[in-house]
Amino acid sequence: MARGRKLIDLTGRQFGALSVLRRSGTDAHRHPIWECRCACGRHWRALGYCLTEGRLSRCGFCRTEMRRAARALKGKNVGDHVSHSP
Ligand SMILES: [Zn+2]
Repeated sequence: MARGRKLIDLTGRQFGALSVLRRSGTDAHRHPIWECRCACGRHWRALGYCLTEGRLSRCGFCRTEMRRAARALKGKNVGDHVSHSP
């Protein structure tokens, strides 16, 4: 059964903070999963198409941290600089 899509080898590729180490099986829909190492040092298994489509650029821990930081930032009044023009 030949399918048009061929597997893209992502080994050694860099996607944001994630560098791809090796192929790590497939998910339930036969999408290839790749084992990556994040800039934070954690290993993270990511779906190949999420990486190539730019949906994923860091591990889940870093994304949680980013969301937390974004929420903290929202609480403050950012850009509350009033310029006094004469
Ligand atoms: Zn990370």
